[in-house]
Amino acid sequence: MAETREKILIIGAGGQIGTELTIALRDSFGGGSVLATDIREFPTLDDSGPFEILNVMDRDRLYQLAKDFNTTQIYNLAALLSAAGEKKPKDAWELNMAGLLNSLDAVRDLKIGKLFWPSSIAVFGPNTPRDHTPQQSIMDPNTVYGISKLAGERWCEYYHKHYGVDVRSLRYPGLIGYKSQPGGGTTDYAVDIFHHAVKWGKYTCFLKEDTALPMMYMADAIRATISLMGAQSEKLTVRSSYNLAGISFDPCTLAEEIKKHHPSFDISYIPDFRQNIADSWPNSIDDSAARLDWGWEIEYDLKRMVADMLYHIRKTRQEAENQKSSPPPS
Ligand code: NAD
Repeated sequence: MAETREKILIIGAGGQIGTELTIALRDSFGGGSVLATDIREFPTLDDSGPFEILNVMDRDRLYQLAKDFNTTQIYNLAALLSAAGEKKPKDAWELNMAGLLNSLDAVRDLKIGKLFWPSSIAVFGPNTPRDHTPQQSIMDPNTVYGISKLAGERWCEYYHKHYGVDVRSLRYPGLIGYKSQPGGGTTDYAVDIFHHAVKWGKYTCFLKEDTALPMMYMADAIRATISLMGAQSEKLTVRSSYNLAGISFDPCTLAEEIKKHHPSFDISYIPDFRQNIADSWPNSIDDSAARLDWGWEIEYDLKRMVADMLYHIRKTRQEAENQKSSPPPS
């Protein structure tokens, strides 16, 4: 465990990313040094360290908790995601913007060392070049989620420039992990498909078979996040948000890779409203700025990710089955 005086406050710690990030940060910095917070209880989060209820819109409570914990870093993960946001556009705008501004203000006013806030490939839009999308490009998002992330990036750069806030950000691609469920994004199919393959041997996908999108295995995303937060401030040339490339694939290619492990796996396609969102996003991303500035490199390719996902999902199911069939203690 790293010897450190860091005190880390995570907002939205109960979600798909927060669940894994909290564990990883507690492993690195010690359980007591990482305060997990969310708008509701998440029983697994207080197993390994402190947990508090926090609505990121409640500025006074955010300031109080940050002060009481002697916070040196904030990770703000609270947001309404792309697909969920399209159903409640105003709510998405309010949470995504006010939540970010509250955390930027807290870091500035309380002189907290660093803030991490994730952006997304949703900042790009229909006129953005689709292949190897560069760091600086046309950005014309057509979802409220993408609009809020693009505005958020501008605010991050503004707070860095005008108030010296050490804010760091990644444009995450679609994230795939087995420890938690996705929270209402357009790339959620790439997590659901694994659970359906193991449980039922078939899956109906809400995107067309040839819809290629940038994706990343959660282990790589967590490593990228912690690595960016550990980088020397002077090395960081991007204070809006770094492009981050993982693996690009379409549902058909993913299904073929799954079939290598489950030969009878069957996939069908019934595209819904999420197809329009996916069609406005890049196929692949150029992340040379992240590579150059803080040495980013991906570890999981498609083959390795699929094998690891299936192994862990099968293992978790098997353990649950064993627990059900074991006799009660006498
Ligand atoms: P998620 O929806 O799984 O988790 C968000 C968490 O925020 C939830 O636990 C929720 O309870 C909490 N929350 C909601 N409203 C809140 C409020 N008012 N106050 C405090 N907490 C609140 O999302 P995620 O997938 O973990 O994403 C985290 C961040 O990463 C978001 O900013 C998202 O936009 C970004 N991101 C995620 C992906 C992805 O593929 N998962 C891709 C790109 C960017």
